[in-house]
Amino acid sequence: MAYLYLTNSLTNKKEKFTPIKDNVVGVYTCGPTVYSYATIGNFRTYVTSDILVRVLEYNGYQVKHVMNLTDVGHLTGDGQDTDLGEDKIEKAAKEQGRTAWEIAKYYTQVFLKDMKKLNIRPPSVMPKATDHIQEQIDLIKKLEEKGFTYKTSDGIYFDTTSFEEKTGKKYGELSTLDKIKAGARVEVNPEKKNPRDFALWKFSQKPGERHMEWESPWGIGFPGWHIECSAMSMKYLGESFDIHVGGEDLRSTHHPNEIAQSEGATGKPFVRFWLHVTFLQVEGKKMSKSLGNVYTIADLESKHFDPLALRYLYLTAHYKDTLNFTWEGLEAAQAALDKLRNQIAALRDQKKRTTLSSEKQIKVDVFRGKFLKAINDDLNTPQALAVLWEVLKSNLTAEDKYDLAVSFDEVFGLNLVKAGKARVAVPAQVKALATERERYRQAGDFKKADEIREEIKKMGWLVKDTKEGPVFEPLKKK
Ligand code: AMP
Ligand code: ZN
Repeated sequence: MAYLYLTNSLTNKKEKFTPIKDNVVGVYTCGPTVYSYATIGNFRTYVTSDILVRVLEYNGYQVKHVMNLTDVGHLTGDGQDTDLGEDKIEKAAKEQGRTAWEIAKYYTQVFLKDMKKLNIRPPSVMPKATDHIQEQIDLIKKLEEKGFTYKTSDGIYFDTTSFEEKTGKKYGELSTLDKIKAGARVEVNPEKKNPRDFALWKFSQKPGERHMEWESPWGIGFPGWHIECSAMSMKYLGESFDIHVGGEDLRSTHHPNEIAQSEGATGKPFVRFWLHVTFLQVEGKKMSKSLGNVYTIADLESKHFDPLALRYLYLTAHYKDTLNFTWEGLEAAQAALDKLRNQIAALRDQKKRTTLSSEKQIKVDVFRGKFLKAINDDLNTPQALAVLWEVLKSNLTAEDKYDLAVSFDEVFGLNLVKAGKARVAVPAQVKALATERERYRQAGDFKKADEIREEIKKMGWLVKDTKEGPVFEPLKKK
């Protein structure tokens, strides 16, 4: 039996995974803040937690996966300043002339659709912060009773120093930032006893002004960002659970804060394994609005990519390694995915049931073993993909290749067998022309659009307009 190994951020080492409870593994993923469209960066993290869940299931575990939706309390302040700035949802509401509730609802719906397009399995529970205000208040009350909080003019804060003194535990073990451990930094909020302290509850400055606010024992206000993850993860997974996933940015403050709040309240270890996903870069740079490189699933679709080509691209790099997104890279991923699907569709058409000789069984088992070894080595998806390509090139029968591909796709989630007939990949030039044609169509220049359609025809493709955008059909060769 090959054991599953995962890199645990608490030790920075690959550790053998064993569950706390027999067979049911609890996984919590820090979900999106639903104030705008999730980016292809965010989705690198969510596809990784989906792969983790699938790998656990492939290993025979039952998984309870919780992913929260942050719909209140995430402020624009970055890094250690998470208790400063404006609420991202309220800010978007002002900018778009809607209510905060409408903003959260709209972006949640788009997020769920994008998840489906990327074949991310629906988590067992997707709790919203605004549906768990009471749980958050109860947790803050517990921390208050234990003497881990203090009040300032703008809210109730977690006192990291009293936490260390009273529990003997260190704050910020997970963090890679020395300054957060020491708490040395230019002070911004002078009422905080220590810069690394953080807000548990914030007061509404002018009650009635915010769209989202609640009564609490401390006055009208709203929860700080970190407390929701402690409250909801422990509600659904228990006070101690197995694996917690998030992007690498959360390692510095959000996750140390979750640990301090949870362990402060319960006195028990919070999480066994912390998994952090390295940020996706775009064209060699950090994604940012000012660079105009913040892409969404809709951006990919408008260029006629299958969102699963992005999923394939994610799988070509280990989640701890830097992955650099480029359009050429996505093109190559789309081509590889199309090739896989075509080969597998062809295998299905050929395959005939034959009896399994023991020699053949051994070969099949060798590939199964290689695949399991790869995924169990800290979710080594590039290696696992290499095993799939090796299977397809091998001298196994069509039937065995097909069966192995179907089984591996339980983990990859690339819908390798979904495509009905063998498909011919749509060439990049055809897609580029279709994008240009779409622009003319939208501008009402149908003459130009028709000219481009003819051009596409000459290249051997028929383009059809549908509600979901253009679809392509290869023209029959005469
Ligand atoms: P947010 O919606 O900003 O709260 O982020 C949601 C999740 O996406 C968090 O786990 C972040 O760490 C993660 N994330 C944000 N940007 C990236 C990126 N460029 N690459 C990978 N994960 C990211
Ligand atoms: Zn979180």
